[in-house]
Amino acid sequence: MDISFVDLKAQYLSIKKEIDQAILDVIHESAFIGGRFVKSFEKKFANYVGSKHCIGVGNGTDAIYLALKALGISAGDEIITAANSFIATSEAVTLTGANVKFVDCDRNTYNIDPKKVEQAISKKTKAIIAVHLYGQPADMIMLKKIADSNGIFLLEDGAQAHGAQIEEQRVGTFGDLACFSFYPGKNLGAYGDAGAIVTADENLAGKCRMIANHGRVEKYDHEFEGVNSRLDGLQAAILCVKLAHLEKWTEKRRAAAAIYGELLAESRAITPFEGQGFRHVYHLYVVRIKNRDTVRRTLEKQGISTGIHYPISLPMLRAYRYLGHSPKDFPISNRYSQEILSLPMYPELNPTQIEYICDQLRNVTQS
Ligand SMILES: *Cc1c(COP(=O)(O)O)cnc(C)c1O
Repeated sequence: MDISFVDLKAQYLSIKKEIDQAILDVIHESAFIGGRFVKSFEKKFANYVGSKHCIGVGNGTDAIYLALKALGISAGDEIITAANSFIATSEAVTLTGANVKFVDCDRNTYNIDPKKVEQAISKKTKAIIAVHLYGQPADMIMLKKIADSNGIFLLEDGAQAHGAQIEEQRVGTFGDLACFSFYPGKNLGAYGDAGAIVTADENLAGKCRMIANHGRVEKYDHEFEGVNSRLDGLQAAILCVKLAHLEKWTEKRRAAAAIYGELLAESRAITPFEGQGFRHVYHLYVVRIKNRDTVRRTLEKQGISTGIHYPISLPMLRAYRYLGHSPKDFPISNRYSQEILSLPMYPELNPTQIEYICDQLRNVTQS
């Protein structure tokens, strides 16, 4: 049986009529930049997250960069973030001129360890960027306490966690600003690059909006130099359609995760840990396993595509060699980068497929 890692086509086919109509509407109105579709999506997404303001931007990486710039982050500042994330998180920090300070993750949740964050804070630290990795909220309660008691900002990288919650509170509402990506493969994905910043702070929202649009107040009235990073009308219209289905899709992801959990309970694969009261939205279903690379190759031969998120921890990337880190500086992230395996995960994945994957996985790990 062939099982892909994600299946964007299956999702499109399930909502084809709505999507095609939305795209046609944008074209008929020539609402390509700005306009009612962007406004409508911003309003709907702020509402979905449970925050006041949403600023549509070009992509998730820009969202982080713009959020940092809105906070006035610049050269000489230090920003703490997770050693195990996608490079976008730390890349956006460097782009502002600030220095990135990596912190290791918790051994159960794979999210940034608040105790280690506390130890990493210095006089230069201006902000913490929490990443809700794989779709599970980081420990925002502890991180908020730490940020507040040290007088530093707290940002959320929610690129993998649309709709994730701690108790009844959605991610995106814990930090000063939160950043989302709508890269096609994300839980809420556009048909190209797209992103957003969410905040409850009107002043910060205004700043983000200006920086993302050439420092513009009105057309041709520029208060300062910004960048061009806008959500476009086509993506906004597509996202409006898809947002209405997101809760249903999230529940399907959670149901798929529950089946995986049951079928792998007696296996040698270590399944994801879900914090008490935490709503994990399973952007990725990541297990840990010995001989990961052999297992992966065997699954591939059985037609099962898997992924590794991420094979090299950020501090160990060549891009960060200048920081002079060694693997023992981030023991958990580095050990786990050798053991983690992302199994197929998308709302349309059915129980028969999951059973097949789990059967194959049990076979390879037993032999
Ligand atoms: C995808 C992703 C980003 C970047 O989003 P883009 O829209 O691709 O720029 C940032 N952080 C994390 C954790 C991501 O997974």
